[in-house]
Amino acid sequence: METNFNLDAAIRKVPDFPKKGILFYDITSILANPEAFKYCLDAMEALYRNEQIDAVAAIESRGFVFAAPFADRLGIPLILIRKKGKLPGKTLSKKYQLEYGEAEIEVHPEDVPVGKQVLVVDDLIATGGTLRAATDLIASAGAKVAGLFGVVGLPFLNYRAVLGNIPIKTLIEYH
Ligand code: IMP
Repeated sequence: METNFNLDAAIRKVPDFPKKGILFYDITSILANPEAFKYCLDAMEALYRNEQIDAVAAIESRGFVFAAPFADRLGIPLILIRKKGKLPGKTLSKKYQLEYGEAEIEVHPEDVPVGKQVLVVDDLIATGGTLRAATDLIASAGAKVAGLFGVVGLPFLNYRAVLGNIPIKTLIEYH
């Protein structure tokens, strides 16, 4: 694994998106750069290879992109956490607050291994609200959330306060 890779340079920053005053960290520029994408997957693998993780749960949709190859590398099950109305089977759901309005995520409880250790993966952690809801959802299906991962973390938005004492790892943080 290349340890001195400049991940920051591989992340596109888009000012005033989705609205004025917000700086959006765009990970599509990582995906379009095979060296950057490989760096992220190698780093994720190195972070969790020696931890007891039995399954990975991925947040729709950019979480899927990182979690799927990671699950394959570790040889563990992949659980999709989707926006309401997308999963065809029996679902558990969790509502949570967005800055404006409300969102709802769902999982197939049948896909969640009861009593096992699950890592939840997303592309970016901002306020932590999405991962909080995902954590509650996985717990309500009977598994334990062993860790939370975001490629990018924005700790100045205080996600640690929202996410309690669950171990959180990121590849890069912006302050
Ligand atoms: P949170 O729930 O406030 O932590 O927001 C995290 C969710 O919003 C993740 O699913 C991200 O994909 C998305 N998100 C928020 N800000 C950004 C950003 O700057 N870049 C990419 N995704 C973002």
